[in-house]
Amino acid sequence: MTISLISHPDCALHDMGPHHPECPDRLGAIQDQLLASGLDFVLMHHDAPRASREQLCRVHAAEYVDSIFAKAPAEGQAWLDPDTIMNPHSLSAALHAAGAVVLGVDLVMSGQSHAVFCNIRPPGHHAERDRAMGFCIFNNVAVGAAHALAAYSLERVAIVDFDVHHGNGTEHIFRDQPQVMFCSTFQHPFYPHSGDDIDSEHIVNVPLPAGANGQAFRAAVESCWLPMLDEFRPELILVSAGFDAHVEDDMAGLCLVDRDYGWVTSEIRSIAEKHAQGRIVSTLEGGYALSALGRSVSAHINALL
Ligand SMILES: [Zn+2]
Repeated sequence: MTISLISHPDCALHDMGPHHPECPDRLGAIQDQLLASGLDFVLMHHDAPRASREQLCRVHAAEYVDSIFAKAPAEGQAWLDPDTIMNPHSLSAALHAAGAVVLGVDLVMSGQSHAVFCNIRPPGHHAERDRAMGFCIFNNVAVGAAHALAAYSLERVAIVDFDVHHGNGTEHIFRDQPQVMFCSTFQHPFYPHSGDDIDSEHIVNVPLPAGANGQAFRAAVESCWLPMLDEFRPELILVSAGFDAHVEDDMAGLCLVDRDYGWVTSEIRSIAEKHAQGRIVSTLEGGYALSALGRSVSAHINALL
């Protein structure tokens, strides 16, 4: 098994201020834990390229992409929403974050890697077609899915999202595109207060109440995601891998532990091996308790191996 890790130094230069939870140290915490666990030595390392305008405009309005370039500050900060701030490195970080998922798709589609983890920020799953929000600028996982459809003529791509927040941006982008199945678990009611108002065969939203633990999460995945994914027969699986449903993460109120992330990754891998030649491209979304984040990503990558 060849597992690749894609990142870029600029992703650690995007900085939204000293008290912002979506901080550069998140990437270092993951890298440190991968080194400590010995996993780092078995991964193939790649630098993320920048996503092209054409790749971004498959999922974002051209005017929106232009507005992000226009707002990117040469110095100081620019606010995109109350939680989402650009510094002079943010545009480059966002372009490399989206480009990482594109490269990840290329690596698994060409057979150079079996599976990929993109250790990148800013995250992406809240970014809608024409709106930045919730720490997200470009919808990285959506850019990757659209690249798979366009560049490899795939007909069925699945995105699974176990971040504690609903991936409203991903749903917004693909809600009328049945070639993309979107499976999500999330705390509800909770930010961004979406995910309970869609009736669609290719959008599988599973809200979980605050306090739900790994047992409830596993039951939701087993009863809702897995049968739908098996029937859909995805040719590629992308993962919006957020780790903020961890019990140690006070961003939200779900109670998952490290081994739940290993378990769900194994289940995703079984579907990928059955239908998608094992092809999985996973990308970092949330996860703000640094120790739990590093351990959970290690459990996730370990289950990919
Ligand atoms: Zn989140």
